[in-house]
Amino acid sequence: MTEIRSQLDDRLSVIENKLLEMAELVSVRVGDVTSAMLEGDVAAADILVRADDDIDLLSLQVEEGCIDTLVREQPVARDLRFVVAAMHINTDMERSGDLVSNIAKAVGRLQGAHPDDHVRDLVARMSAQAQVLMRRAAESFRSRDAELAASIDELDDVLDELHYRYIQHVIADARRGELDPQQSLQLALVGRFYERIGDHAENIGERVRYIIDGWLPEAQAAERARARLGSDEFRPTRGLAVIDSVAEERRVDAIRRDFVANVSHELKTPVGAISLLAETLASERDETDRERLTDMLQREAKRVGDIIDDLLELTRLEETETATKKIDVDDIVRRAVDKARGLADAHRVEIAVVGVPSDLVVRGERRQIVRALTNLIDNAVRYSDPDSQISLTVDAIDGAVTLTVRDTGVGIPRTELERVFERFYRVDRARSRETGGTGLGLAIVRHVAQNHGGKVLVESKPGEGSSFVLQLPIVGADPS
Ligand code: ADP
Repeated sequence: MTEIRSQLDDRLSVIENKLLEMAELVSVRVGDVTSAMLEGDVAAADILVRADDDIDLLSLQVEEGCIDTLVREQPVARDLRFVVAAMHINTDMERSGDLVSNIAKAVGRLQGAHPDDHVRDLVARMSAQAQVLMRRAAESFRSRDAELAASIDELDDVLDELHYRYIQHVIADARRGELDPQQSLQLALVGRFYERIGDHAENIGERVRYIIDGWLPEAQAAERARARLGSDEFRPTRGLAVIDSVAEERRVDAIRRDFVANVSHELKTPVGAISLLAETLASERDETDRERLTDMLQREAKRVGDIIDDLLELTRLEETETATKKIDVDDIVRRAVDKARGLADAHRVEIAVVGVPSDLVVRGERRQIVRALTNLIDNAVRYSDPDSQISLTVDAIDGAVTLTVRDTGVGIPRTELERVFERFYRVDRARSRETGGTGLGLAIVRHVAQNHGGKVLVESKPGEGSSFVLQLPIVGADPS
């Protein structure tokens, strides 16, 4: 057992060191990006965007280390809670890395912007604050220190305060006509990025804290196991079941908490932009600028509307029973293609439908399945280049109808393939924003597939394209 323990300790320390390395890398990047932004140095920002791969690689190594540890270390499962924590923390850090690369992209867009001294000072302080947060979060994980983790909240308050003042300043400048509206909006979004880095760091602290607080002393674990199993016979030498159940409760709590935090963020960004745009619009006299601002306002408002629609759809999928009517597959295909047509035309993308055996029937709710298929087609269109073609192939394989949507667009890196089905997860936030995505489309598809006893699969290669397959059980030809 001692030998196994020390192997586990070794493994955990490899994971910890990699997480610390990531935290260091992300926080150094935050500093570099800030300097690049304040200097208007586009070339430096470009390099930083490309260097984002290092963070992805580390994240992949941590993930593989975690999975390997989980598989091999069953005998000392009590300590595996830290491995699960490491996986969560890994996700947060990797997301912070994505944000850094987005800030770098914003630098690119801000060419020629010369923030005044006050803005420079606030941005530099936000950046420093975000770096401290990231480092402190990683440190609290290494030292398993719940108190340290709790102190992250306070740091985050400072970041919030800085961000608030910064926005006020940008608004005031824009009102006086000292910043053009486009520039002020971009600066406001950069501020939001920093705030989000702070949030990820706070999540890390929060997770470390609940992992440590949730640690059950041995006697208590045995007590719980007896209560659960209703027998004195059971002597939990490993406590796996107990910890699993506690971990599950906490996992559900954490998911709920994450979700609420994510929704608030997703809505805060466009709502913040709307208020900024409205304020700027009020003081803008130039007719062309007013039109441009109004367009931007409408886009942001539509975005809020889309996010709310998708959230309501997800809630409906979770809360209402799915009907079990028989539905013709060709009818589903026709309706989904019709719905996606407008978007496809706007992007000049052609939709080719291949082989619809007209006797295929599935059981479920037509509206849901049409929505899922439309989401897949919409995505194929939005992540393809203009003047290209996408295809929708209908097949019947091993008792299942497969609806395959194939594109030759940007593709998805291997490390992201599983995560694209998570709510609000995007490989490239900027692109999803530009094309009007809500980040919920694939979460809806997966839900619909599950409600119908089916599944959704994806294969993809960056630069070559993606295929998404929606599989649904066949009912067989309807004799009537
Ligand atoms: P979004 O509204 O951002 O498109 P989705 O849930 O539909 O949200 O998809 C999540 C992410 O998965 C997208 O942001 C995008 O990065 C990636 N994605 C989805 N479909 C495709 C596709 N066909 N090609 C490339 N990337 C895709």
